[in-house]
Amino acid sequence: MPATKAILIVIDGLTPSVFEAAVGDGRAPALSFLAEHGNYARAVSTFPSLTPVCVSSLATGAHPDVHHIPHLVWYDRERARTVEYGSSFAAVRAAGMTRSILDTIINMNRLHLARDAVTVYEALEDAGYTTAAINITCYRGRTPHLPTLPGVTIPAYGPKRFFFYNLFESDPTGAPLAIFGRAQGSIDAYAAAVGRWLVTRDGFDFLVYYLPDYDFASHAHGPDDAFEALARSDAAVGALLEAAGGPDEFLERYAVVLCSDHGQTHVERSARLETVFADVPGALVTASNRAGMIYRLPNCKLDARGLAQLLDGDAAAETVLFRDGEDVIARREGEDVRVDPDGVLFDYPDGGRRAWAALNNPNAGDVVVSAAPGIEFADLAGRHHAGGGSHGSLRRGDSEVPMLTLGLDAVPESIVDVMPTVLRHFGVEPPPYARALARAA
Ligand SMILES: [Zn+2]
Repeated sequence: MPATKAILIVIDGLTPSVFEAAVGDGRAPALSFLAEHGNYARAVSTFPSLTPVCVSSLATGAHPDVHHIPHLVWYDRERARTVEYGSSFAAVRAAGMTRSILDTIINMNRLHLARDAVTVYEALEDAGYTTAAINITCYRGRTPHLPTLPGVTIPAYGPKRFFFYNLFESDPTGAPLAIFGRAQGSIDAYAAAVGRWLVTRDGFDFLVYYLPDYDFASHAHGPDDAFEALARSDAAVGALLEAAGGPDEFLERYAVVLCSDHGQTHVERSARLETVFADVPGALVTASNRAGMIYRLPNCKLDARGLAQLLDGDAAAETVLFRDGEDVIARREGEDVRVDPDGVLFDYPDGGRRAWAALNNPNAGDVVVSAAPGIEFADLAGRHHAGGGSHGSLRRGDSEVPMLTLGLDAVPESIVDVMPTVLRHFGVEPPPYARALARAA
């Protein structure tokens, strides 16, 4: 009988090439075991290929045109202010510490994530299943949870079992404090402690197990020099196997999807997108990692095409996207191409669909920029990862993810196929917007 319960493991920023090199060589025993017993393929992320956008796609089975989370940093037209989910500690401070923390831990789910999008937690719990989430920033569910911070009385609506960096803990697990010592992998260690507790108690039907420490290390050292961090992610996965009583027992009990949310590529230098628009009244830039957005405020005299044309000849901007009526235009090397959502766009994986969906998000900038290789846009506070790794663009290296499944009848081709795959595993009909699965295992 196939396992009925399931776990989605997300190792943030893990590239397919690092995953493929790590399996089978002894440094990553848990990942190697899973890879030996599973179906593997490379899959594609969404655009911008940045964590808040990508984890929303994983949770809702949709691109940003449906879930409405546009970027790591963006301009909220409705509330007339910038939203910063944590490009860097300095950027968070520049945007306002308290507000950024509230935007990230509360408002992203409560206000920014589209009402019409359905999360995997909502869909499964409505069908009578118990869902659990550890540390993933897209967590919207039906159960109110009060934060552990004294004096904060705004509940977050999450899955029944909800653990988020010690700020929300639906059950007392005794897991250690997660926030400090991030470079040493403390967040994944916290996740492992909670995951062990949940698996030991068999406390869920579906668990999202999110491990962010690898991405942090890969930004600092570059995507090919974060093996030490991968070993810690592997240990966090291994903790689940042990808690089930061993690898074979684990597979008897759980179906598994293991993937990352986006890739990473080396960046050699940074660029400030703001400089280009400094003399344009009413043009507001939000940029971070390898994607940027330009918003037209009410006093902006230039239309979207006019703003896009200002980037002609700018070496940092590889492809500049904007809307022209019903169309989405991709401008590259001074020439316009109409984006076909079902077609190719240059050599970007799933390029037409991803570019089209990014621009058809009501929260996206009027202009969206995909960075040239090796270049990162500095954030609000001027921070960047030059010399290390980054992601966010339409380019293959930023956009491809490893996708491994065990006990499921399909390998998702895109991160937006994960949620419908999980729902079908539980016999639950995916939301109408979720596209049909293409590739059978
Ligand atoms: Zn990252």
